Amino acid sequence: MLLEYEVKYSTRRTLNITVERDRKITVRAPEHLSLEKIDSIVQSKKQWIKEKIHHAQKYPETPVVKKFVSGETLMYLGKNYQLLVVDEDIEGIDFNQRFRISRKNQVRANGLFKTWYLEQALQKIEPLAKQYAKYLGVEYAELKTSEMKYRWGSCTPANNIIFNWRIIKAPMYVVNYLVAHELVHLIEDNHTPRFWNILSIQVPYYQKAKAWLKTNGHLLEVDF
Ligand SMILES: [Zn+2]
Repeated sequence: MLLEYEVKYSTRRTLNITVERDRKITVRAPEHLSLEKIDSIVQSKKQWIKEKIHHAQKYPETPVVKKFVSGETLMYLGKNYQLLVVDEDIEGIDFNQRFRISRKNQVRANGLFKTWYLEQALQKIEPLAKQYAKYLGVEYAELKTSEMKYRWGSCTPANNIIFNWRIIKAPMYVVNYLVAHELVHLIEDNHTPRFWNILSIQVPYYQKAKAWLKTNGHLLEVDF
């Protein structure tokens, strides 16, 4: 198997290989390491990488596309809510134990829902991020919610934190875990025992949240 991977040099001291859920391989390496050396390490981890790539293929290839008709369900904070298309004049999305949209807005429902979810995600995530940052004694520059396909969250080198709006489809305890997870990365880059130790103090139920994501993560991948 020919391995194609992207090398990113950083100030880290150890080499770290990640297989993203779109099967892209990223190698983060210390600045002094030659490409030959990197390649020999990557080749020695071939078996591990193969298994990771195989695991990624469990995810569905073709996303389910929602039809915005009455009776369709949309996921929000771990529950499915019904959609009702009504003749009444509603601006955007109305949510109260069910979703309601105007028939005249049906054609642009996809965009309206995306805007709604992005806003809800930011409203729910921002106070959590502030709280965990305080507990952990870390600071981030800016927090955003955005459209990402294969990740739940990420940290940029400038300490900006970006969350996939889709995480707001998960139950709140999973959202808690994902927010705390990104913030712990401001202390520890890799998923070392130290990383999980720090995280488990903030989120003692993190194993349960990870298990939820393992079983239901694919539900977050589709829109709404
Ligand atoms: Zn992580």
